[in-house]
This record gives sequence, C-alpha cells and structure tokens, in this order.
Amino acid sequence: MRRITLFGATGSVGQSAIDLIARDKDSYDVVALTGGRNITQLAKDAVALDADLAVTCYPALYDDLKDLLAGTGVAVAAGPDAIAEAAARPVDWALSAIVGAAGLVPGLEALTHGTTLALANKESLVTAGPLLLGRAKAHGATILPVDSEHSAVFQALVGEKMSAVERVVITASGGAFRDWPIEKLANATLDQASSHPNWDMGQRITIDSASMFNKAMELIETKEFFNVSSDMIEVLVHRESLVHAMVGFHDGALMAHVGPPDMRHAIGYALHWPERKTLPVERLDLAKIGRLTFEAPDEARYPALGIANRVMQEGGLSGAVFNAAKEHALDGFIAREIGFLDMARVVQVTLDKISSQGGLQNASITLDNVLETDRLARIYAGEAIKQLG
Ligand code: NDP
Ligand code: MG
Repeated sequence: MRRITLFGATGSVGQSAIDLIARDKDSYDVVALTGGRNITQLAKDAVALDADLAVTCYPALYDDLKDLLAGTGVAVAAGPDAIAEAAARPVDWALSAIVGAAGLVPGLEALTHGTTLALANKESLVTAGPLLLGRAKAHGATILPVDSEHSAVFQALVGEKMSAVERVVITASGGAFRDWPIEKLANATLDQASSHPNWDMGQRITIDSASMFNKAMELIETKEFFNVSSDMIEVLVHRESLVHAMVGFHDGALMAHVGPPDMRHAIGYALHWPERKTLPVERLDLAKIGRLTFEAPDEARYPALGIANRVMQEGGLSGAVFNAAKEHALDGFIAREIGFLDMARVVQVTLDKISSQGGLQNASITLDNVLETDRLARIYAGEAIKQLG
C-alpha cells in the first residue's frame, strides 16, 4: 500500500485527486488530508478514505472539525504549523494543492523527508523555485509537475535529453475575456472574470486565467522547473485547450501533448508515474473536433505576460515579489476594491518599488528572505491598491 498525503484536499485539484484515489481505495494508506474553510468536506473525505489525520489551516475551526470527526478515529489538528507537521509524517507521495504562497512551507517540509511531491501549487515554484528544487536535490526527493502544461512538457521529455530542446511552448485558452474589446476590460466584473470557457477550476486560478496572470505564473514555473532560459519559452493562445504544451527539439520536431481539459489526467500521471494506468478521462475524438487553432497572444490585452518576462530576466527574489503582489491584487479585485486591469498595475508598481530599493537580483533565496520579501510586497501592493481604489 502506498502512503499518501493530500495538501489542499478540499480544493478543485484536491477533489479531483480524491476522485481518483477513492476509485482504488485499497491501494492507498491515506496519512493526512488538509483543507481550509470547508471542514465538512474535509471530515467527509477523511472518514471515506480512512485518513489518520485531518488538518484545517484555520485554528478557529479546530473545535468544529473535532466535533465532525468525534468517534471516527481520525485525529484532528489546525493551523499552518499543524499543516507543516503533517508534512513531516513519512509518506511515499504527497499532493501539493494548497492555493497561494501558503503551499511553500508544507512543500519544503515534505521534500525534506524525501517525499515525492506532486506539485500543483505553482506559487511555490514562482516564489522560491531554487529553494524548492534545491531542497528536493539535497534530500533525494522527486518533484512531479501537476499543472497541466508542465505535466505535458514533462511527458514530452520522457526519454529525451534537455540539451536537445530548442523551445518549450505552453498554451493558454485566452480566458473569459479573449473576445472582449480591450476598452471594455477595465469594467470587467468579478462574476464575469470567474467563469472559464474550458476548465472547471478554483475561483482564484479562473480569474488569473482571464488576466493571464496564470500563464505569467506558468512561464516562470516553466523556467524554474525545466531550467530553460526565458527566451526559449513561448505562449500560444489555443482556444480548444486540448494541446497543453509542446516541446521543440533542435531537429525541428515539435512534440505536442494532446488531451482533454481534465485535471485528473495530470494528477493521475503524477500519481502513477513512472507508469501509466487507465484513467477515467474522456478519450478525444479528433475527427469530431476537426480543428485546432493557435494564435500569438496580444500583449496589450494581457500585460501580465510582459511582467512575467521582466521577472524571468530579473530572477532572484523578483518571483516572490511578483507572486505576493499578484495574490494581494487578486484579493483586492475579489473584494471589489480595484478593477480588473488594476491588478497588473498593482504588480508592476510593487515590482518597481522593491526593485528600486536594490538587492532583488542578488539576494540569496532562503526561506527567511522569501517570507520577508513576500511580507514587504504585500504591504506595497496594499498601498498601491489604496491609491487606485
Ligand atoms: P482551490 O481554491 O479550489 O483549493 C485550494 C485548497 O487550499 C483548498 O483545499 C483550500 O481549503 C486550501 N487553502 C486555502 N487557503 C489555504 C491556506 N492559507 N493554507 C492552507 N490551505 C489553504 O484551488 P485549486 O484547487 O484551483 O488550486 C490549487 C493549486 O493548484 C493552486 O496553486 C493552483 O494554481 C494550482 N492549479 C490548479 C488547477 C485547477 O484546475 N484548479 C490547475 C493547475 C494548477 P478550503 O477550500 O477548505 O478553504
Ligand atoms: Mg495550467
């Protein structure tokens, strides 16, 4: 039996993972499930999967979670430290599917214990890629990508040498506003930004898809994870969301990964890696689909892409600034304090301010430096939100 832990079990990715695991329950020994506000779902899944431990990140919900799990034999804990402690419990495989920078510490902790980490939490790579990869290396742990584009690149690279790679292309649906006139974007509402044309995902990543901040994160994620230079990475708008990524080789070949827009594919690949097992995902009928389209992204429509290029070139702690400012700007948009296009302005202003103070590029990427940079970026982003709001 494989021992597993799921961080962010109650979220969109976490629930897709549980769907796969519940179909083959006897193969897994579930050590811990973690969640946030949704303790009803957390308790239900902890009982159904016979988990040893259920943890919510909110200490105030401890008593309620304890009541829900009374008499079930599932242990209960609460708070960020309790999540990090859960990550120290030995398992063979863990899913990192917490949303936001909060996923970094449990991910690092799991890697320190040699756990194979299936990484959906792109924020930890954007914020502290070298720290995360260095931790994996130091402890002989493996990180497997779960973000669909990165899983696609990873799969296209099986059996290939990185030295043969010329470029990496990740695709983007274009999000909710791909056909809107640019002039209307400033007035886009929260509801309009929260629905995705192709994927069913958590609210935050759906809004990030509309602004392409999600793709901006994924560009940085690609650079960090595959250790390729920023000029080797491209974004293509692909409305159908069926080709997730392509890898171009020096001989001109382009290996494309084609699959349905269903996260259970990428999660299942990481769960069964290095093998492939039957997964309950749709089989594509390409004759019926008929046509796949590709367009270059319009950088004026998606300023986030230009910001990502800047971050990739600056390197160092600028990823931590970018991620924290983006998270804070997104909070501001969700709280209706700023408009849709203001999110990019907040990130830009925050990067300018911290970069002008110097030291971003050369500072060493330690956990302390990352957390301090994250804290500072949120303060500056908050000031920018006040000025714009
Ligand atoms: P959701 O918002 O649906 O779920 C997030 C999970 O994290 C929930 O379990 C939530 O608990 C928990 N959580 C929220 N805040 C905290 C915190 N501060 N500390 C600990 N746990 C917390 O997100 P998604 O599933 O959409 O995304 C998860 C990650 O995967 C993100 O990094 C995202 O970018 C990435 N990703 C997602 C994809 C998707 O299809 N959804 C595709 C590719 C990558 P609760 O809900 O109980 O409050
Ligand atoms: Mg993705």
